[in-house]
Amino acid sequence: MVSHLLEHFSAQLDQLKQQGNFRQFTTNIQQDRYIQINDRRMLNLASNDYLGLNSDLQLREQFFDETSNEQRWMSSTSSRLLTGNFPEYEQLEASLSLAFHGRSTLLFNSGYHMNIGILPALADSKTLILADKLIHASMIDGIRLSTAKYVRYRHNDLVHLTQLLQKYHDDEAYDRIIVVTESIFSMDGDETDLAELVRIKKQFSKVMLYVDEAHAIGVRGEQGLGCAEQYGVIEDIDLLVGTFGKAIASVGGYLICHAIIRDYLVNAMRPLIFSTAQPPICMAWTNFIFQKVLNLNSQRQHLQQLSTYLQQTVINQGFDCPSSSHIVPVIIGESTKTVAKAKALQDAGFYIMPVRPPTVPQNSSRLRISLTAQIKQSELEQLVTLL
Ligand SMILES: *Cc1c(COP(=O)(O)O)cnc(C)c1O
Repeated sequence: MVSHLLEHFSAQLDQLKQQGNFRQFTTNIQQDRYIQINDRRMLNLASNDYLGLNSDLQLREQFFDETSNEQRWMSSTSSRLLTGNFPEYEQLEASLSLAFHGRSTLLFNSGYHMNIGILPALADSKTLILADKLIHASMIDGIRLSTAKYVRYRHNDLVHLTQLLQKYHDDEAYDRIIVVTESIFSMDGDETDLAELVRIKKQFSKVMLYVDEAHAIGVRGEQGLGCAEQYGVIEDIDLLVGTFGKAIASVGGYLICHAIIRDYLVNAMRPLIFSTAQPPICMAWTNFIFQKVLNLNSQRQHLQQLSTYLQQTVINQGFDCPSSSHIVPVIIGESTKTVAKAKALQDAGFYIMPVRPPTVPQNSSRLRISLTAQIKQSELEQLVTLL
């Protein structure tokens, strides 16, 4: 019998189970483009390893061959402001700055740290934040930790954003307005028109843009620098952020910005100042992978072709599919139905995860198909006959 202190939590869990929204960890074994769970081997269609670099054994071997044991620092044992600033940090920042047209770079332990840290450091009570309705939870948490007032605009509705800018821009309560969005959105797989967003920004002198490229870095643009490269707006996004934990097959976050903003954050951003920096070996690995990613255009093109094929097929089968990227949701609605469908597909050898509230809005539970450059066209053709 559980104690009275635990009863409350136990009842909450029972409720989640009833709604089909209970979650738990599963262990898995991954190999190449397959994932094995409970002795069942399935094609992995739930991975963020969009370029297949994390499962590339040759890459791993090359990295360790090139990195001597003396260089394999497994901890930094301190924040970068104390003794944690190993040369590997400076090297990775220099690589990113070089690729991103000479702008300044600042690194973070994770995308979550990045998004909960930058906004509270930059946004004070004289700041207004205008945020897309569907931004990632980490940015919402960052906004909540800041003292700024914030208003959400309808998802990907730049007309609504413009109306809000017109309404608030001349309000003397605000010295700055920060517009916060993603380039490719993680749950719908749709994307912001960054060229239009930049055009709008240029009409309002108080506005700074904050764009999260977590799902676009590595995948979009000639060199894989993200949608900002693809749309030709690298210089125009004041706070261009992304993460290394997806296509870059590593861990961490980065910000591309003006040198003044970088200096300011080093002095003001709490998750940067009060957390031990990532191990230097992670910086070395991220840099190694980043150099490779610059040249993976054929993988990016293959991924693009797979994506277009799947989006069109899903729509032809009568499903709602807002995607224009490699993240292709099949929106079903009800949680229990979605979970059952995901299980059926898993039984057939396709590892696809159901996504339910609160990750997505009520009644928009979905199968979230996440494509990687390792998937073959023939495998997708098999999958779509089962949808
Ligand atoms: C994954 C993700 C993050 C979090 O990054 P981590 O490095 O995993 O902490 C932040 N923003 C978006 C849009 C993401 O998809």
